[in-house]
Amino acid sequence: MNKRGLLFVISGPAGSGKGTIVSRVRELAPFDFSVSATTRAPRPGEIDGVHYHYMTKDAFRAKIAAGEMFEYAEYVGNLYGTPKQAVEDALDAGKNIILEIDAQGAMQVKDKMPEAILIFILPPDYETLVARIRGRGTETEDVIAERMQKAHTELGYFERYDYVVVNETGGVEQAAENVIAILNAEKLRTYRNGEIQQKFFG
Ligand code: 5GP
Repeated sequence: MNKRGLLFVISGPAGSGKGTIVSRVRELAPFDFSVSATTRAPRPGEIDGVHYHYMTKDAFRAKIAAGEMFEYAEYVGNLYGTPKQAVEDALDAGKNIILEIDAQGAMQVKDKMPEAILIFILPPDYETLVARIRGRGTETEDVIAERMQKAHTELGYFERYDYVVVNETGGVEQAAENVIAILNAEKLRTYRNGEIQQKFFG
């Protein structure tokens, strides 16, 4: 029988650089990623079923009502959520899954599945956070204000995470390596590897 897979959650405020880090982790390590559902429109280059499952708000709400979302959150006017069945199937098949979701979603996962491992990505300091949120230059003042507000809320969840990884300026490679070190260390915990002991004691 397969050992049940591990569920990792990576989140961090806008400006933490978590998207870039997660992309690098995907290139370097053999973990499976859950494809989220969202009501936001695809950005150029994004593919339905690969980056997200894109759907209308009505379709999304119907899935919530049917209990098909493992967690979900509203983020800057759109709904984002993790389809439950896909995650359950992957974990049952022994796959180690990574969710890249916002902090509200991360808290829901921890409440529903306390054994999930939560990793918080942060910029080096507050000034950098503000500069990175502003620096994209593509958002209106309202969206910037909303992102800042949300970042404050998210920082308040710090202690509920199991690990923190600081994304130093120019430090994506190091941050990605730190995330992979966490993923690998968690796989090696003694209590998850009783079968190794069994080999010695029969
Ligand atoms: P974006 O629109 O930039 O792709 O994502 C916006 C935010 O939504 C990011 O913080 C991202 O981590 C978060 N997000 C993406 N998928 C999910 C999800 O399935 N659940 C939750 N709670 N947040 C998500």
